[in-house]
Amino acid sequence: MALPPGLAVRGPRSLLRQIREAMAGAGPAQSKLNSVVRIIARSMVSEVCSIYLRRASGEMELFATQGLDPSAVHVTRMKPGEGLVGEIMRQGSPIALSDAPAHPAFSYRPETGEDPYHAFLGVPLLRGGRSVGVLVVQNRTERVYTEDEIEDLQIIAMVLAELVAQGELLGETELKDVEIAPHKPERLRGVRLAEGIAFGQAVLHEAPVAPEQLLSDDIAGEEERLRTAIKALQAQIDQMIEGQRGIIGASYEVLEAYSMLAQSQSWNHSLEEAVHSGLTAEAAVERVRSEHRARLGQARDPYMRERLHDLEVLNDRLLRHLSGNAHGPRNLPDDAILIARNLGPADLLEYDRTKLKGILFEEGSAASHAAIVARALDIPCVGRLQGLRDRVSEGDPVIVDADNGEAFLRPRPDVVEAINARIQVRAQQRAEFARLRETRADTRDGAHITLLMNAGLEIDLDILAATGAEGIGLFRTEFQFMVAEELPRITAQTQLYARVLDAAGDLPVTFRTLDLGGDKVLPYLQADFEDNPAMGWRAVRMGLDRPALLKIQLRALISAARGRELRVMFPLIASVDEFRAARSMVDEEIAWAQRRGRPAPRLLHVGAMIEAPSLLWHLDALLAMTDFVSVGTNDLMQYMFAADRGNPRVSDRYDPLSPPALRALKTICDACSDTGTPVSVCGEMAGRPLEAFALLGLGFNRLSMPPAGIGPVKRMVLSCDREAARRGMASILKGLAGTVRNEVETLARKLNVTL
Ligand code: PEP
Ligand code: MG
Repeated sequence: MALPPGLAVRGPRSLLRQIREAMAGAGPAQSKLNSVVRIIARSMVSEVCSIYLRRASGEMELFATQGLDPSAVHVTRMKPGEGLVGEIMRQGSPIALSDAPAHPAFSYRPETGEDPYHAFLGVPLLRGGRSVGVLVVQNRTERVYTEDEIEDLQIIAMVLAELVAQGELLGETELKDVEIAPHKPERLRGVRLAEGIAFGQAVLHEAPVAPEQLLSDDIAGEEERLRTAIKALQAQIDQMIEGQRGIIGASYEVLEAYSMLAQSQSWNHSLEEAVHSGLTAEAAVERVRSEHRARLGQARDPYMRERLHDLEVLNDRLLRHLSGNAHGPRNLPDDAILIARNLGPADLLEYDRTKLKGILFEEGSAASHAAIVARALDIPCVGRLQGLRDRVSEGDPVIVDADNGEAFLRPRPDVVEAINARIQVRAQQRAEFARLRETRADTRDGAHITLLMNAGLEIDLDILAATGAEGIGLFRTEFQFMVAEELPRITAQTQLYARVLDAAGDLPVTFRTLDLGGDKVLPYLQADFEDNPAMGWRAVRMGLDRPALLKIQLRALISAARGRELRVMFPLIASVDEFRAARSMVDEEIAWAQRRGRPAPRLLHVGAMIEAPSLLWHLDALLAMTDFVSVGTNDLMQYMFAADRGNPRVSDRYDPLSPPALRALKTICDACSDTGTPVSVCGEMAGRPLEAFALLGLGFNRLSMPPAGIGPVKRMVLSCDREAARRGMASILKGLAGTVRNEVETLARKLNVTL
């Protein structure tokens, strides 16, 4: 069948111009919309052109039509997912059919009078990767729409989406009820990834292009801008590949993938096409990105999702080149709340830390690298907020209530007031804790309690001095591996450990060897599926079975420590034989370094983490061979109570302030005191004042905790009479209930302990 002389020949440029002219005229919004569908129908040589927009209820309503019965306008409504229009909305991609009524999803609406039409082409009105409506053309004959026509209609749809969003095609009242941009207050439930609360304005990690930048008459000029920006982007990637600068931990392969994508014909071609049709270079990037997102966004395949991420990174960089701000951090308001699907290892570090007040993720898990970095930067962060990116627009006021794992979008004034009050109280507390920084953590009766900090990233080192911690009691070395995109080599490991020791100066640092496996999986290390990963092949088990990785790490630690004190401990030791084997690997590596004439550490302490309950009944053997031990209560509790710490349905079923848990801890503390083995507690409970009070009462005097815990725990220590706490805890330990939290709290209050 011969194609009619449609857009495929002329391109959408003249059409866009006509639309612009129609828009510029005076008159009511509905008549402008009517002109727009008339112009599109004429240009596409179609008998019908209709625009459907999404109502706040989720229904798709016919807003304007050329060719269908005009009385159906604002009457015909499709439920979400209903008919071809609903299908296009759901998929976020076009549907082209030569005989639409034969399609199973076709929904016949008699009021529209669409009986005579066969050919159907519908495209989504995409804005920031989200469908806000559908644009449809229909023809009487069973014609086939060409690729070019589909592409052209998509470009028009993109421009329409922006025009609608700006209120240019709809009246004020109409716009209010159309789901272009959500405007009602909403409360989304997610999970806490980094604690704290914040109130600010939404900054979309993938920001949409401003509508005033959509169209341009200067095609040659835009083509030139695009070419220059792509060239600059390619040069930047090449430079990164050479120097591996700019992206922390980014691997060669990832940069190579970026480079290949940047040079790919299809990406370049799609961009050029879009500019050629009359879009600005920025709008062209947005257009191509929207389509990729819609197409790949629903993919479940991790490989496809990774590719989508690569494309997002590339598009962002290209937009920054176009805005002339390629290298600096993105401009942020002073109270930015970052909104993203998820972030790659380096992304978060590209934002100005001082302006980033909170983060919300549609995906993300506590073990994801972005969550680790957010915790290290002490930025409140909530993840797994379903539908987040659909529900928030750039600049929306947003509350991050990470303490309760919630987000409030466009909150009501009373909610803002309540949150602001909480933020103020926190700020006052922080100021108070900062004043305590230089104060020694001694109890009222003169017992010194050593407060240490848990760390794992280089950025943690910046706050070591600010917390007043007496050292790092747990350096989780796997974080470096988790935020990198490939296995860190020995030089990178050595450099990190040396920098940690430099930053700590005279303060002790306890490095824990790799605690991978379980929920800490590395994308670049193939892991076998395990039914029960928390009890599976993880931590020191991996290190002993595949010694190469552990050997390299020990070598890096030894070489970083040269002439200084080195403290190493092994995670998840479950039997003394494992500790013996691990310790002998340290000895072998020391001997290896000495044979090569390398300076050995000045002092070496090798310890075990007590995380497996089995060790409780073999402490006599364990303590005889360890220089120190540290109790990892996070894991110890999960194994004692058989409750997965990562599963919110079971993780709160038990209380560490319970007789069995406290008696177990006391057994460890007493055995260490009998043998003179230094012992610390480094699980999260050590950083919570009430739990830390209980630990003091059991006899512990070394606690290692997240940085934010040090101030509150020090305040508790300063107000505590240690001997009285010990006496009180001794009787609480005899308790018969499953939890003794209330009793511990009553004791603390009786002793005037500040919690
Ligand atoms: C623990 O298990 O208590 C611990 C400190 O280690 P992690 O939380 O890293 O497993
Ligand atoms: Mg652990």
